[in-house]
Amino acid sequence: MQLYNKLSADERAKLIDQAGEKRLTISFYQYHHIGNPHIFRDTLFIAWNDLDVLGRTYVSDEGINAQISVPATKFNAFKTHLDTILFLEGVRLNIAIEQDNKSFLKLKIKVRKKIVADGLNDETFDVTDIGIHLKAKEFNELIAKENTILVDMRNHYESEIGHFEGAITPDVDTFRDSLDIIEEDLKEHKEDKNLVMYCTGGIRCEKASAYYKHKGFKNVFQLEGGIIEYVRQVKEEELENKFKGKNFVFDERRSERVSDDVISVCHQCGETCDEHANCANQACHLLFIQCETCQTKMNDCCSNECKDIHELPEDAQKELRKGKNKSNKIFKKGRSEALKFKI
Ligand SMILES: [Zn+2]
Ligand SMILES: [Zn+2]
Repeated sequence: MQLYNKLSADERAKLIDQAGEKRLTISFYQYHHIGNPHIFRDTLFIAWNDLDVLGRTYVSDEGINAQISVPATKFNAFKTHLDTILFLEGVRLNIAIEQDNKSFLKLKIKVRKKIVADGLNDETFDVTDIGIHLKAKEFNELIAKENTILVDMRNHYESEIGHFEGAITPDVDTFRDSLDIIEEDLKEHKEDKNLVMYCTGGIRCEKASAYYKHKGFKNVFQLEGGIIEYVRQVKEEELENKFKGKNFVFDERRSERVSDDVISVCHQCGETCDEHANCANQACHLLFIQCETCQTKMNDCCSNECKDIHELPEDAQKELRKGKNKSNKIFKKGRSEALKFKI
């Protein structure tokens, strides 16, 4: 029985091209107590592999968090399959606004301790005592009120390229950091203001809203389904779109454009730009914003130092990387002295 990927990303990309069929990029999550996450994981893998599902999914004893792509022709079969799993029956599927057939190239389902790395100790509060869910229309109404504080629960590299007008966007690298900063900033207003929060797909706000209620906030609200679902409802109901710029997403597409506003700048030259790139030096891989001019000038790198390394023969680069602890450097997100225009 096959329980793991056999194809490489390149082989998969070729297959997708050959098949020429449309794929849908989908995300969903559900908090639920799962008795044996390992068995659940294997069951999912077999079913999803059959349905040509690709993507990254975390399963834990607290639930499931999935970012996947499904062939459009198999979407109904996929939904039917989910409905056979009791706690996923009718689960809300966030369907991406902009589709890319290659948003994911492998099926990875991993058992983790938590479905979102939140750095929180669950025993200290009731994670099911969450805030009030808001639909797009209610959200627009509430954030227009004077006694509402709107908070972006995402990290700096996400909110930088797009966020709601008037939102507080904490300059943080992790979810855990933002919880503390926001609590400190708003401690005077636990009872008299509406605390409204949002994130990409809603999952981080589930935890955050329960956390703030536990910390004594009285009026806690969250955008149901996050930015992804908000955009869908805004289009469908022809509401005013209050999100400016791009929505950062965690797949190969990196982001999807919501409004035409470009709210960030190239981290190297300061020109208006909202395209993320990863530094081409394999030992760096820094995520940052880079315009096309800088991309050419810097040969896809974040600094002259990285450019020099990147332009060495592959063998010499490997030699340089040898014995170095890569985990700190690879996938570090958007902070470097070399980036003059990173705010
Ligand atoms: Zn530039
Ligand atoms: Zn670099």
